[in-house]
Amino acid sequence: MEITRVGIVGAGQMGNGIAHVFAMAKYEVLLYDNSVENLFNGMQRIHKDLDTLIRRDKISAQIKQDVLERIGQVERLRELGSCDLIIEAAKEDEDVKKAIFKGLEPFLSEHTLLTTNTSSISITRLASCTDRPERFMGFHFMNPVPQMKLVELIRGIATEDPIYQTLQGIVTRLGKTSASSEDFPGFIVNRVLMPMINEAIYALYEGVGSVSAIDKSLKLGANHPMGPFELADFIGLDTCLAIMNVLHDGLADTKYRPCPLLTKYVEAGWLGRKKMRGFYDYHVNPPRPTR
Ligand code: NAD
Repeated sequence: MEITRVGIVGAGQMGNGIAHVFAMAKYEVLLYDNSVENLFNGMQRIHKDLDTLIRRDKISAQIKQDVLERIGQVERLRELGSCDLIIEAAKEDEDVKKAIFKGLEPFLSEHTLLTTNTSSISITRLASCTDRPERFMGFHFMNPVPQMKLVELIRGIATEDPIYQTLQGIVTRLGKTSASSEDFPGFIVNRVLMPMINEAIYALYEGVGSVSAIDKSLKLGANHPMGPFELADFIGLDTCLAIMNVLHDGLADTKYRPCPLLTKYVEAGWLGRKKMRGFYDYHVNPPRPTR
């Protein structure tokens, strides 16, 4: 199936990264966010990331300009109606995602593929609220999108094979690698990664070690490039909590119980890097642990 125009819903850290890599691969991109401020910030981020590539001699100024010209900004969801492929990358909330697909439906052509970048929510359940579950898939990019090589592909129960193959082809054109995951809570990456982060927060909560001690231990003792608190702040603590809740509810096992300390940080609005404060305070350099 020919995919020319790609509509992205949500211009946050994932949505703007997805727009960046699709435009680099010469797709026409339309980027939408229901917050004009976040749409603006998302475009600013793409500018900055492209400037970094210029500074590193990876692309020329002309390529930057061409990439930016391929990204259109739209302020109404319905303007994505002409797209061949939709990638939903709004916040990790099932009701929000369902409302987006419902809102799009009247404006889409029959051939349009619907995908979601959800980290954990059931693809089959999201697909079932649309008019085209056979043309619906999980399309899970990793953060930061321009750098990370993996994309998880998740079929819903009704997804047809040619749709899977189309997405596999797109992943190759983006210069990335796909892994197939069955549709279970958290898929593969977050099924393994998020309980590790949650366990690190429990270790902090129970006084086993400080933020710095736990991060240092995992970096130097397990060769992780980032400590679990650095990584949690990078992902966003609201997203981490939402994923733990999906694992807990979907797998009905107390081992996935979100740590109360994670809930407390989210309730405080200390969501990590995007709010300049999470397990670290990013107003100072180097960032200072908040516990
Ligand atoms: P984010 O908070 O950075 O951005 C979310 C964006 O969605 C915001 O700009 C917000 O204004 C917008 N939004 C909210 N409701 C909307 C609506 N109804 N219509 C349009 N836009 C809306 O979050 P993020 O980290 O980019 O995460 C987005 C999705 O990607 C989530 O489903 C998340 O689970 C998934 N994801 C996140 C990561 C990560 O590391 N952060 C990795 C992979 C996948």
